[in-house]
Formats: sequence, C-alpha cells, structure tokens
Amino acid sequence: MEKSFVCIACPMGCALRVWEEAGEIRVSGNTCKRGLEYGRQEFSAPMRTVTSSVRVEGRKHGLCSVKTDAAVPKEKVPQVLSAVYGLCVQAPVRVGDVLLENVADTGANLVATRNVDKA
Ligand code: SF4
Repeated sequence: MEKSFVCIACPMGCALRVWEEAGEIRVSGNTCKRGLEYGRQEFSAPMRTVTSSVRVEGRKHGLCSVKTDAAVPKEKVPQVLSAVYGLCVQAPVRVGDVLLENVADTGANLVATRNVDKA
C-alpha cells in the first residue's frame, strides 16, 4: 500500500510517496537523503519528539516547557502526554534537567527546555 507524507526533516516540505516493493521500502519525491530516511521511518515506524509544558508547584500560572530527549513511537504519544499532564515539578528548574525518566516506558526522558526560578 502506498502512503503519502510531507517530509518534515527541513522547511522545504517535499511531498513523498512511499511504498513497499520486493521487501524493500521505496521512496519518491525526496530531494535528499534525509527525506529518504524520513520516508522509510515514517512508513515503517513513525517517531515523534514530544513537546509540552508541566506545572510548577507554588507558582501561580507557572509552567515549564519540556520535551522528550529522543523521538518516541508515535502510538505512545498519548501515554507520554498523560504522564506530562500528571506531572508537577518544584522550582528551581534548569534547562536540561531530567523531570521524568523513561517516560511512558519509551526509553526517552522528559527534560526541561526553560529555566524557572523560585518565586
Ligand atoms: S526531502 Fe530533503 S529537501 Fe525535501 S523536505 Fe525532506 S529533508 Fe528537506
């Protein structure tokens, strides 16, 4: 079965067609090797880096932006977000702090992408 994707590996946004033929994943529409790799990955096992925010305890309207430190399987994104929404951290927080290890059993950690000082 053929699938169509927009390559998100760079802002060019090439339109990819991806299909399987003779046991191999074929890609057309890419203009570079990154698009070939993206198309193959997206076809066989799509991955996403998750970005969101977590609550900061004791800070009115306090949020700290976060992301996974590696891409996680796309089907696990809802579980990652559930874990993120249930999390509340204490200030101070520094960029790169690991706020949750092995989030949703993906092997990726949730890390802070913003500094939050104590109130
Ligand atoms: S195929 Fe290459 S040039 Fe096209 S969007 Fe993907 S990374 Fe960019």
